[in-house]
Amino acid sequence: MLNKCLDFALSRLGQPCLLCGADTTGSVLCPGCLADLPRLTGPRCPSCALPTPLGETCGGCLKHPPAFDATRAVFQYGYPLDALLQHYKYGQDLQLAGFLAEQLTSQIDTRPDLVIPMPLHPRRLKERGYNQAGEIAKRLAKQLDLPVTLTACTRAKDAPPQASLPLKERRKNIRGAFECRADLSSKRIALVDDVMTTGASLSELAKVVKKAGAVEVGAWVVARTLPMR
Ligand SMILES: [Zn+2]
Ligand SMILES: [Zn+2]
Repeated sequence: MLNKCLDFALSRLGQPCLLCGADTTGSVLCPGCLADLPRLTGPRCPSCALPTPLGETCGGCLKHPPAFDATRAVFQYGYPLDALLQHYKYGQDLQLAGFLAEQLTSQIDTRPDLVIPMPLHPRRLKERGYNQAGEIAKRLAKQLDLPVTLTACTRAKDAPPQASLPLKERRKNIRGAFECRADLSSKRIALVDDVMTTGASLSELAKVVKKAGAVEVGAWVVARTLPMR
């Protein structure tokens, strides 16, 4: 047992930083690269976490209020975090899940009743081998000592990738994509995803979760895409 622990510690010791290759002391990033990650700071829309001058609700949320009640986001989706998240999503590198969960955990000061990750369609799950949001959610729930379920909600429709579509199309594209079989009566739910782009998917999932009885739904994401200026 001791040998195993030692092996693990030694294997992590010489681990190069995932972004620059420098030596790290048991972390996935060196301190310099960690400091370079684009953190979201300053006043933000309470609904969707987009920066607004005084922290008021943004125009988009006023026009089309999302089905979730609030958003927590740690980073702005941009260099070099985009590279890290791409690596996490497609590189089979699950050690990043713990790191990303830790980053998200540090932003959380509420105690929902249940954590639910953005579900992946079974076909995508088979392709990739894991649900990247699910792996973050599991670790985050463990760190916060909260219950988590990966089976209450499913993605029934394998919609075309949202990335290629404008906002209006995204809402249409994702409609009816999720199903929730659990009874979530009077529960406060935290939905977890790696990136929120327009929020259309998370809003659709929140709608389904509220239909299942949830009274309050938060969206917890590692990164938020900001519109181009
Ligand atoms: Zn580095
Ligand atoms: Zn907003």
